[in-house]
This record gives sequence, structure tokens and C-alpha cells, in this order.
Amino acid sequence: MKITILGAGAMGCMMAGFLVKRHDVILVDVWKEHIEAINDKGLCIRFQGEETVVHPKATTDPDQAKGADLVIVFVKSIQTAGALEKNKAVLGGGTLVLSLQNGYGNDQDILKFAPKNNVIMGTTDRAASVLGPGLVNNSGGRYIHIGPLGEDMSGAGKIAAAFRECGLDTDVYDAKHVNEMIWDKLIINCANNALVALLDINTPQLLQEHLSDSFKMLLGESVKVSRACGLPFEEGVYVEKNIALLKSLSKEARTSMWQDVNKKRRTEIDRMNGAIVRLGREKGVPTPCSELVVHLIHAIENKYV
Ligand code: NAD
Repeated sequence: MKITILGAGAMGCMMAGFLVKRHDVILVDVWKEHIEAINDKGLCIRFQGEETVVHPKATTDPDQAKGADLVIVFVKSIQTAGALEKNKAVLGGGTLVLSLQNGYGNDQDILKFAPKNNVIMGTTDRAASVLGPGLVNNSGGRYIHIGPLGEDMSGAGKIAAAFRECGLDTDVYDAKHVNEMIWDKLIINCANNALVALLDINTPQLLQEHLSDSFKMLLGESVKVSRACGLPFEEGVYVEKNIALLKSLSKEARTSMWQDVNKKRRTEIDRMNGAIVRLGREKGVPTPCSELVVHLIHAIENKYV
């Protein structure tokens, strides 16, 4: 398969490391130094301390990445619309577009550039971080869940087959379950991501007294909003799910929002707790805790020099 990855950051590069084994992969990014490093020396992927160098193509010029069967969008959710606008050239009439990004609203952004039947959404518990130009850490993970926005399952089926060939466990769900998949990850992200960034703690510390009460308050609001949006989620189930997740993480784990704040980058807060606040307003569900967290994260962003 001819695959263009839009956004050669942590996740884009980690996925390229797998997909380049069997497919023709090109990375597109605005970060020149990183693209040059990949073209000069290859892309180095560190996994559990061992390094492997792979050789996907890489470019800052979307015209060099035309004609893909599949475009995987791996910019931050707040960049999705802007990045697709600037890189429209990578999309052909029949190109499938996949997003495994976090946050709410990526599907609506992508639909401005691709027909519904070509758009595949998904989630993954795989994780990665950028260590420097041309160097990325693959933090592991197990699953990729994908599904189409439209009724046609064939595109998602092709993507799953292409991913499995490269050792990526990928399950396909129908359109009915895609929204549930996105909300499922959103609820957990809204419970943990901002708190870890605000308090500068490791993610499993959220299990401690006061902190667990705090994540439960955020989680409760997200579940109430999800229910108002027609999803069948139960607060108690999600509290248990989050506790199990927090217990399973390594002691050093930190959320992506902590990493963004630490690197003084704009966060995805408006696509996480911010989305809960907006949807809560629309549906008449109060979300004061989520709103406070959104203001606090923006206040931190405003302090970046
Ligand atoms: P990242 O910041 O490491 O990478 C994003 C890349 O997009 C950057 O290299 C940036 O230069 C590039 N970019 C920005 N604007 C661009 C444009 N106009 N054209 C081309 N490239 C552009 O982000 P990430 O951690 O890889 O996360 C990507 C998405 O995946 C986010 O939604 C995130 O929440 C989600 N996610 C991340 C992880 C993780 O462990 N990092 C895990 C699961 C999901």
C-alpha cells in the first residue's frame, strides 16, 4: 500500500516504523530538521532500550507525497484542519483517510476534505514520544481499533489487513461503534490528561487521596455529557476502568498534556475537556470542573515565553 503519514511526530514516526516493513511510506511534516535527519540517516526507533533504524521517505513538500492509497493524519487534533488545508495535495479522489488521534472533532475536520465513505476513525493504546530529530521512542501498546464513518467497511478492512501484515494488531468495527470508540478514549483522557499536567505528577499518582476524587469529578461530568449525546456509558464502569488503567501504568508514566506543557507547546485541551464543556452547554449538562480545568490549562499556555 502507498501510505502518506501527515505529521511525523511521535505517533506518525512510530507507525512508520511498523508500516515501512511492507509498504511504501512517506512522512510529511513542517519540522525541517527532523525531516532532513530522517532522509540523511534514517528514522531511529527506540523500543525497550534497543534501537532500530528504518528508511521511510520524508518530506516537507506535500507535492512529493501525492497519490497515496491511505493518508494517516497524525498531527495534534488542534492542527487537523490547518494541516489538511495546507497539505490538500496529498489527497486524491479515492484516498482513504485514517485518524487515530485523540480528542473530539477530528472526524468533522477531516470530512471537510474527504468524502464520508473514505474516512476511517479509530483509537489506539499505543504510545510514543519524540526524543530528537530522527529519533523516536516507541512506548509500546497493544491495540488499534478502527471503523468507517460511512456504511462501507471495505476501506477499514484493507487498512486492517495492511497493518496486520506489519505486526500491528488491528480490529475493525462498524460505523455504529466508531463514535463509542472515540468517546471511550475521550472520557479517560478528560479524567487524567489535564490533572497530571496541572499538578506535575506521574499519571498513577492520580490514585492517591484527593487526586482520585478529582479525576472522578471530571470523569463524572464527561460521562453525563456522553449520555446526553446518546451514548450508553455508566459512570461506575468508567471509574473502575480508569482505576485499572492507572494501576497498570509504569510509575514514570505521564500524560501527553503533561509532555505538551513541559515542552511549552499548545495542548489539546479544547478538543478534550473543552469539548465536554461545549457539548455540555448544548445539552444542558453543567460541567464546572471541566470548565475550571480548561481555564487553568489555558492560563499555563499563556505563561509560555
Ligand atoms: P507530535 O506533536 O509528536 O506530532 C505532531 C507532528 O505534526 C509534529 O511533528 C508537527 O511538526 C507536525 N505538524 C504540525 N502541523 C503540521 C502541518 N501543517 N503539516 C505537517 N505536519 C505538521 O504529536 P503525537 O504525540 O504524535 O500525537 C499526534 C496525535 O496522536 C494527537 O492527537 C495525540 O493526542 C494522539 N496520540 C498520541 C499518543 C502518544 O503517545 N504520543 C498516543 C495516542 C494518541
